[in-house]
Amino acid sequence: MVENPQMLESRLPETGTTIFAVMSRLAHDSGAINLSQGFPDFPVAPDLVERVYAAMRAGHNQYAPMAGHPPLLEAIAGKLAGEYRCSVDPAEEVTITAGATEALFAAILVLTQAGDSVILFDPAYDSYEPAVRMAGCVPVRVPLEFPSYSVPWDRVREQINDRTRLLVLNTPHNPTGTILAERDIRELEEIVEQTGVRVLADEVYEHLVFDEERHHSLLSRPALWGRCASVFSFGKTFHATGWKVGYAVAERSLTREIRKAHQFITFAVNTPVQVALAEYLAEPEHYRSLAASFQSRRDLFLERLGDSGWAPLPCAGTYFQLLSYDEQSDEQDTDLALRLIREHGVAAIPISVFYKDPTDHHVLRFCFAKREETLVDAADRLRQVW
Ligand code: PMP
Ligand code: GLN
Repeated sequence: MVENPQMLESRLPETGTTIFAVMSRLAHDSGAINLSQGFPDFPVAPDLVERVYAAMRAGHNQYAPMAGHPPLLEAIAGKLAGEYRCSVDPAEEVTITAGATEALFAAILVLTQAGDSVILFDPAYDSYEPAVRMAGCVPVRVPLEFPSYSVPWDRVREQINDRTRLLVLNTPHNPTGTILAERDIRELEEIVEQTGVRVLADEVYEHLVFDEERHHSLLSRPALWGRCASVFSFGKTFHATGWKVGYAVAERSLTREIRKAHQFITFAVNTPVQVALAEYLAEPEHYRSLAASFQSRRDLFLERLGDSGWAPLPCAGTYFQLLSYDEQSDEQDTDLALRLIREHGVAAIPISVFYKDPTDHHVLRFCFAKREETLVDAADRLRQVW
């Protein structure tokens, strides 16, 4: 092919293909068990699928209202009141988006102005930095403390200056599986009060918190309301990552801006799925039972690994278990991830890819949102490594 004489100047010169696409592709091509990209290998609840069919048959097949199907907006407001005692106006403070990814992108765009600094924590979920860059902003990466992956609040304070506009938090946290504690949220409130920075809270794993702990939604904090947008994903909650339906919640003046972006990124989201979710969400047992089911998958995976050379790090929530091999080898995590696929038939995610500066603690991420037989088979293979 002739090379384009007018080479396109990249908006994202340092960005390659997301690790999730790369690893899932390798797993697929080699037939490895895929514990890399975070998605369940068990089906969506049949009655939820039935409701989507029913919505299609009933003719809900044209554009939904731009901000979302009103009964779904109301069901979300009801859930937020029940779970987090926060009162939001469904008509003006909730926006249905094409997955949490769109909500994050739209929120980053409108909560900043070009040239602002945005604080991200390493290891950071991979969509944050490109979104910040596409908004014309400067990402400032603050590493979480290893091995606890706790937030170094003093370092955060040191990094905030006149140009800092936004801080992006993720709890429960992907890829580490940690959650923010009450004292973290108090630190955050103090910083917000003292500096006026805004907060974007990625809460997509809100229902996947284990061992009697609970999720602290930033929406439940009156001191943050008006300065904070929170994003959620039905993909995670109802094991339907391919449906790509999520939402953003924020005080009405912020939501007005989020909707300005949303209406020209996607305009509106899949109507029959929204109709089905509105009905399904009205029954809280559908999401309240999730934590126990995922906790038992985590426990089965760890039990089956037994006393192998893999050292599990604490996992308080999400779909993901981190395993350290630092005692076994100093192989780079990216090399080990490739070797695991090739030699042992298991795909995982190397954590170093979520850092800005080269940082390799010799830790891999394994998704345990899988059927029991998948977890047993994968753990048996991993036990052969060390
Ligand atoms: N944030 C985090 C932390 C995630 O793990 C994911 C992946 N599901 C997303 C956002 C994106 O969610 P969605 O698939 O709904 O766009
Ligand atoms: N959130 C998923 C993960 O962490 C991946 C989503 C994606 O592939 N974009 O694995």
